[in-house]
Amino acid sequence: MKLQLNKKRNYVLKKQYDAIIIGAGIIGCCTAYELAKKGYKTLNIDKMPSAGDGSTSDTCAIIRFHYSTPDGVAMAREGYFYWLNWGHYLGLVDPAGMAKYINTGCLLIKTERNKYGRNFMSSMDELGVVYQELTPEQMVDKLAIADTRQYGPPVTMDDPRFGQPTTDSLHGGVYIPETGYINDARLSTRNVQTACEARGGSFLYNTEVTDIVKKDGRAAGVKLKDGTVINATVVVNVAGPHSYQINEMAGVIQGMNISTRSLRVEVSHVPSPEGFDYTHLGMMITDGDVGNYSRPETGNNVLIGSEEPDCDELHWVDDPDDYNKNLSDQWSLQVMRQAQRIKGLPIPQNRSQGLVSLYDCSDDWIPIYDKSDLPGFYMAVGTSGNQYKNAPAVGVMMAELIKACENGHDHDKEPVSYKMEFTRRLCNIGFFSRLREINKNSSFSVVG
Ligand SMILES: Cc1cc2nc3c(=O)[nH]c(=O)nc-3n(C[C@H](O)[C@H](O)[C@H](O)COP(=O)(O)OP(=O)(O)OC[C@H]3O[C@@H](n4cnc5c(N)ncnc54)[C@H](O)[C@@H]3O)c2cc1C
Repeated sequence: MKLQLNKKRNYVLKKQYDAIIIGAGIIGCCTAYELAKKGYKTLNIDKMPSAGDGSTSDTCAIIRFHYSTPDGVAMAREGYFYWLNWGHYLGLVDPAGMAKYINTGCLLIKTERNKYGRNFMSSMDELGVVYQELTPEQMVDKLAIADTRQYGPPVTMDDPRFGQPTTDSLHGGVYIPETGYINDARLSTRNVQTACEARGGSFLYNTEVTDIVKKDGRAAGVKLKDGTVINATVVVNVAGPHSYQINEMAGVIQGMNISTRSLRVEVSHVPSPEGFDYTHLGMMITDGDVGNYSRPETGNNVLIGSEEPDCDELHWVDDPDDYNKNLSDQWSLQVMRQAQRIKGLPIPQNRSQGLVSLYDCSDDWIPIYDKSDLPGFYMAVGTSGNQYKNAPAVGVMMAELIKACENGHDHDKEPVSYKMEFTRRLCNIGFFSRLREINKNSSFSVVG
């Protein structure tokens, strides 16, 4: 099939669509793309100026497989193959450029909190993800500047134990060679928009949804800030950190056992240790011992985020449009913790490099991909700082779910399942249900 690129992007807004997707982040775009492939006339609406300008623009875009549950690993594994075959997934080459996957490998530090990596390893075993267990000495073979002393459990900066090793040696680590990141998350989202447009999808920017229209006991469209109503048979909440507000508009909160809320997070960027080529010799490190995750960043830098160790206070945000966007002591804390693991990591005195953003967290840090109690209203929310990598696989899942439910399937009673394209594993969408009990196997952190 020859696909037409819609170069001008100035659509004539219709009054009726098959599906309105609230949000044009990576997951909103992938959901629309898969629905468009199934023949739905889709419209993504976003209050930002272009695709991927929401929390997707702040993502660290790490593609990795160590999730606490086999279902978590399966989604990440499935998503990985779409990123590896990006052009084939899109079905075109975007004239704006194509996002690229960069492999770095991953060093996972074994800690008591992560049960010395046992859940991760058994989940990866189930999916055939290759890994090697490493002694502390072998860790240095992989990353010459690694400090293999144990510093954990992590403590706050004002604790006298901060920065002091607790023992001379870690318990070891796990090396996962297939791990990396996408070089440009915004571009990847625009790539998916372009692919969706080629399938007839439309996008509306600088436009805020203020209400969900209901008719005859089901969702029937959305109301915009200027009062315009756009009708649709299906409405999907993919609003990222605004997911709670959109669910409230739809009146579906009472019918959920798992809820979502916004968490303020910071990401620190610092230069690599002097004379070390971190771009080529560094790797992603997931390090519960110091309480951080990190990866090489463009320009021989190190990007650092928090793994929410137990000692840290979490900063929940009531209004995702009103929170402190300045870097704080959290930035310094993350850098100082990382300097415990990477020998010679500089600790700059000014906090100029980094960002502040929001995760859309669920109660158990596992996303909600589901229908709702309002027929025709669906949600892909609670992505908890760890679902960028899964977006293409989530798009497929949401399209399967919507199609089945719109054809009369009772997903709450008998969860929809389908065979994933690459892993050939059966995906039971019920795992991500809004009605589930809190999943006790979760890490209750960004690790998922
Ligand atoms: C700092 C940070 C680091 C991360 N690192 C990783 C990582 O390394 N690996 C990984 O896999 N994941 C990571 N994530 C998570 C990942 O980025 C997110 O799960 C993913 O980007 C969410 O995409 P989305 O499309 O659901 O949401 P978003 O990108 O937030 O898109 C939602 C959109 O909805 C729009 N919207 C909201 N309300 C309205 C309204 N009323 N009307 C119109 N539009 C509205 C917003 O403007 C926004 O553009 C990270 C997230 C953050 C914040």
